[in-house]
Amino acid sequence: MRMAIDLVNAGESHSSLETMDDLSAFLDRHEVRSTRTPIHADLAQLRRLSGELREVLGASRDAAARRVNRILTESDPCPRLARHGDHDWHLHYDARDGSVASMVAARAAMAVACFIRADELSTVARCSRSGCRAYFVDLSRNRHRRYCSARCSNSDAVAAFRTRRASSSATSSSTPRRG
Ligand SMILES: [Zn+2]
Ligand SMILES: [Zn+2]
Repeated sequence: MRMAIDLVNAGESHSSLETMDDLSAFLDRHEVRSTRTPIHADLAQLRRLSGELREVLGASRDAAARRVNRILTESDPCPRLARHGDHDWHLHYDARDGSVASMVAARAAMAVACFIRADELSTVARCSRSGCRAYFVDLSRNRHRRYCSARCSNSDAVAAFRTRRASSSATSSSTPRRG
């Protein structure tokens, strides 16, 4: 799920999925290993997928299921058991057409599909800081988390403090002094 959310957020910021370097960084981050070298078509396909997944995350559960099914049909994941490094047997989803983008699509769509099946899509929330709006998975007990990161939380706290200070100084200067 981390990869699916990262893909949505990368597309959202319009700068983290722009170049082939961005693409390789993304693939490294999520340990996507393919025998194929990523090409420009993969980048274009993943930017499109980012938009599709963003709509999934914002949709109702039923609509999200329908949209994810469309991505699953296109990417056509073939599950395979794999074991490597310190990881015991686990499922890999290879895409039938073997392209890097389809592999990412297959993996991301399967992750979102599992969330929908477990009815956990509601744990996916959007950052409350205006100008960020990144998605994150809220694992807090009461689902009260509002920000994607400590950075957003801090910068909103600073902004709120400035607003309060500005409005309190405006109030005190407009209040006529007695004496
Ligand atoms: Zn693996
Ligand atoms: Zn944020």
